[in-house]
Amino acid sequence: MIRYDLLCGDGHGFDAWFRSASDFDSQEARGLLSCPACGSVDVRKALMAPALASARSRGGDEPVTPEAESPPVSLVSGRDEKLRGLLRELKAHVRQTSEDVGERFPEVARQMHAEEIEHRPIRGRATAQEAKALLEEGVPVYPLPAFPEDEN
Ligand SMILES: [Zn+2]
Repeated sequence: MIRYDLLCGDGHGFDAWFRSASDFDSQEARGLLSCPACGSVDVRKALMAPALASARSRGGDEPVTPEAESPPVSLVSGRDEKLRGLLRELKAHVRQTSEDVGERFPEVARQMHAEEIEHRPIRGRATAQEAKALLEEGVPVYPLPAFPEDEN
């Protein structure tokens, strides 16, 4: 792309981009160029066009490059890895020693809390809302961390 500073017969200066020097020539020859100020098709290149074009470009010759996209990443430190290992152990322990009551967890937990049924370790599913409600009722529930492998 080439930018030319142009001048109409009435002296209006403006600039326009062209694919090439010959593109300008052919547009000019076909009368496709017109002054944006007065509409005159008597348009010619301003004398110092090429020099002006580069001298006028603001900010020098710095190429305009969009900043490289940086997706969010997380670096797991060794300490976090250790903690995760502990959480996995805890979870495995809970799995081995508790009964899975599944969706009935809030109900069973309440019954045990009310001593309607015998206490035993249980695990299951509760929505965040249910877990909050249980805690507010004084039922000690603990969220277990979810690991990617749980999806299997
Ligand atoms: Zn004009």
